[in-house]
Amino acid sequence: MPASEEFTTRLLPILEDLVAAYGTPFHIYDARGIVATHREMAGAFEGEPFQQYFAVKALPNPNVLRLLLEEGSGLDCASPVELELAERLGAQGEDIVFTSNNTSPHEYAMALKAGALITFDDRAFFERTDELPEIVAFRVSPHGLAAGSSLMGDATRTKFGVPAEELVDVYREARRRGARRFGVHGMICANELSVERAARAASDVIELGARVAEQAGVELEYVNVGGGLGIPYRPGDVPFDFGAYARAIIEQRDRSFPGARPRVLMECGRYVTGPHGVLVTTVINRSRKAREIAGVDASMSALMRPGFYGAYHHATLPFAQGRPEVEIDLVGALCENMDKFAVGRTLPDPRVGDIALIHDTGAHGHAMGFTYNGRLRPAELLLTDGGDVVEIRRAEGIEDYLATARWRPEPVLSGTWTRT
Ligand SMILES: *Cc1c(COP(=O)(O)O)cnc(C)c1O
Repeated sequence: MPASEEFTTRLLPILEDLVAAYGTPFHIYDARGIVATHREMAGAFEGEPFQQYFAVKALPNPNVLRLLLEEGSGLDCASPVELELAERLGAQGEDIVFTSNNTSPHEYAMALKAGALITFDDRAFFERTDELPEIVAFRVSPHGLAAGSSLMGDATRTKFGVPAEELVDVYREARRRGARRFGVHGMICANELSVERAARAASDVIELGARVAEQAGVELEYVNVGGGLGIPYRPGDVPFDFGAYARAIIEQRDRSFPGARPRVLMECGRYVTGPHGVLVTTVINRSRKAREIAGVDASMSALMRPGFYGAYHHATLPFAQGRPEVEIDLVGALCENMDKFAVGRTLPDPRVGDIALIHDTGAHGHAMGFTYNGRLRPAELLLTDGGDVVEIRRAEGIEDYLATARWRPEPVLSGTWTRT
């Protein structure tokens, strides 16, 4: 989907000057849009016990995370580095949800020390821990009706969560071990645009949680329905109706927990920041091979979703309107044929020097970048509420690329070949 009108009307008038002064490629995010989406979510649950935790992995830039923390968002972390980033930003205790999988004892200890709300993904791991968090929550494996709607895999193939039929046992076990406060977690959707399916998936987790809690003789303080809400990447996609989703969740909570009002938690990443970023590139080559091809100065290393998943990202040439159109591939420079931002897309015929925008890069964009082929990750800029453009991460250079390399290696183990 083309970037929002609000973002476009603030960005386009300054874009040519910005590119002339700063160069390309870079991701630029719209602070105003990000805050507005967070507020829309919080507003839909007004008067209800609700907390959104931004999934750090989607856009782990300290400046964006700080903006969200200031709006009252929590942070959802899944690794020690994300946890430390959250703590360095001043997040503490229940500002943080730690929902990991294949967790190591070391990272569990870190989450415990941070006082985060911890989700246990794995029964075996839970049984190995000696110290329990204040509130014990388990992640439910994708299951039941809603599981079929997801990209998370079905119940028989998933690596996530505790199988539904083992839940009563694990909550009983937790109680036996002295836990007195409980939550439940279930994330069944991935990039889900249908409110009906997303609401069914969340309702499923709420219902199952209520049933399990009753059978295990525990009370749930919160139900965490995870993230996984979709954004309209394609021009024809209908935006997700968050208000309707919130209403469905509140209704289901009231049906499943009459009289009690357990908190509803969410861990949305993509929904919050995804639409509020674009990758700004310049066309550097235009050729005709078996296909029409325009090469841009960014690569898959700046945005891997199209190459990796075949994901659609809208692409535009905002200053080439009115030119004859052509069906064309927009490609990067990696020595990988999958390094294409768009395939067979109808666009005004690109010329060398044109600015090309790749839309919806605000989540799982820069964050998934890598440095293969020495094509390094580009800068991240932020368009502030006041209309300034600030650099929130510089582009990587060769010193970053080599920062972890040893030019004069030290032995970590002396092999037999060193003996005389
Ligand atoms: C990835 C992930 C999220 C965020 O997913 P989005 O699609 O960005 O909303 C939230 N919770 C968990 C456990 C995740 O793995």
